[in-house]
Amino acid sequence: MKILHISAECYPIAKVGGLADVVGSLPKYQNKKGIISQVIMPFYNNKFTSSHIFIDICDANLQLGEENYSYKIKKLKNCNLGFELFLVDIPELLFKEYVYTYDDTERFLAFQIAVLNWILTLQNKPTIVHCHDHHTGLVPFMMTQCFKYDRLKMISTVLTIHNAQYQGWFSHEKVNLIPAFNFNNVGLLDWDGNINPLAASIKCAWRVTTVSPSYMNELIYSANGLETLLEHEATKCVGVLNGIDTEVWNAETDSYLIKQYKITSVQSGKKKNKQYLCEQFKLDATKPLFIFIGRLVGEKGADLLPEVFNKTLLNNNISILLLGSGNETVEQELQDLSTKNKGNYNSYIGYNEKLAHIMYAGADFLLMPSRVEPCGLNQLYALKYGTIPVVRSIGGLKDTVIDISKTGGIGIVHEEVKVEDITNAIDRAVELYKKQPEYKEIRKRGMQKNHSWEVSATSYINIYKSLKA
Ligand code: ADP
Repeated sequence: MKILHISAECYPIAKVGGLADVVGSLPKYQNKKGIISQVIMPFYNNKFTSSHIFIDICDANLQLGEENYSYKIKKLKNCNLGFELFLVDIPELLFKEYVYTYDDTERFLAFQIAVLNWILTLQNKPTIVHCHDHHTGLVPFMMTQCFKYDRLKMISTVLTIHNAQYQGWFSHEKVNLIPAFNFNNVGLLDWDGNINPLAASIKCAWRVTTVSPSYMNELIYSANGLETLLEHEATKCVGVLNGIDTEVWNAETDSYLIKQYKITSVQSGKKKNKQYLCEQFKLDATKPLFIFIGRLVGEKGADLLPEVFNKTLLNNNISILLLGSGNETVEQELQDLSTKNKGNYNSYIGYNEKLAHIMYAGADFLLMPSRVEPCGLNQLYALKYGTIPVVRSIGGLKDTVIDISKTGGIGIVHEEVKVEDITNAIDRAVELYKKQPEYKEIRKRGMQKNHSWEVSATSYINIYKSLKA
């Protein structure tokens, strides 16, 4: 069985969020289980691509509406990611330093067309094409509807929805960008009067997965307009919980850390990382350290953080460190807080992979007051690194964090995304921190949880097997 994952992101090549972590690790675990699992993604102009060697394996042209673009398929050489990696290099469209921008319709459509053109030329075609999110959502439509790709019709397709909030909508005026198809079937592209790549993919893919079982259930009620479609297609949909790459996320071997540690040395190991963070960010290391890492958007509850922090910092009993970027107003508010709360609060506005690792290691608690959380990886990294998650009960957070009031509890869970609920949860965390033996016991239990891909990689393989013609 040969699987081709198609994605806009893949760690460590290009990462914006959890999508990259999943596509950079799931194929590795699938290969370990004896199937061939490869990844194809756009070639961006970034640190990874400029410091690695690629070989050109295909040089061709593609048609995007009236425009013709030359492109190359490059294969990564001399780098052991645990899977074969191919990159689509369309210099005029994709060779940029960022992953997402304003002309994504054209960029990702050209990417998808290039991928399908290339598959057409392959002797040994994939058994399964596995698409991730809306950037690759037109692939299942094109494979089943476009005359040009008629020979790919029998290849099974799987769509994984990492986030249904973003759907890649564009106007029907741009329909000519899609290679010719039977226009009677244009309805497959449409949702609410627009071309909707995520909806098209839900309609045309052979199977649809989401990144946690709870998120799958929630989508029937809240999917940014796609609720009835998901309800209608429910029989081909299933939630598979994301795993984590325990080769990358392992406090014993993590080279980003100030001090590596294992479960038996967690106390001293975390202390060194916390000291470093507190020195760097001028925080009080004697207080419990709360962190937030993530996109500063409504989905993550980031708009409430300034008020939450303002309120909790009044008690003068915690330190807070935030890492993230997103909404500019929220960014500004969070930065302004540092001046008012010197010594107790600080932030790093931006993206910083190394700092994120040290924060998971050095913190005592991780905050995730998400409105929407398809799976959430932060809480899984936190658990692995002995940082207790304080989360809202939603999506993947619901599936992975049990409240400490229950048997086997490993975190603090609140029901609503309201300032009061979040501050109450923080107060509970502070109380727990005071009871060190209990705190340590809960921390240990969390570290012992196995969220490696081992189990979920098998679930995906079972899905592929069920689709084989
Ligand atoms: P998302 O909805 O953003 O994909 P996930 O929890 O699934 O959320 O994954 C987020 C991933 O991105 C994690 O690996 C997290 O550590 C990382 N991340 C998010 N924001 C930042 C940042 N500003 N700097 C470094 N890493 C970040």
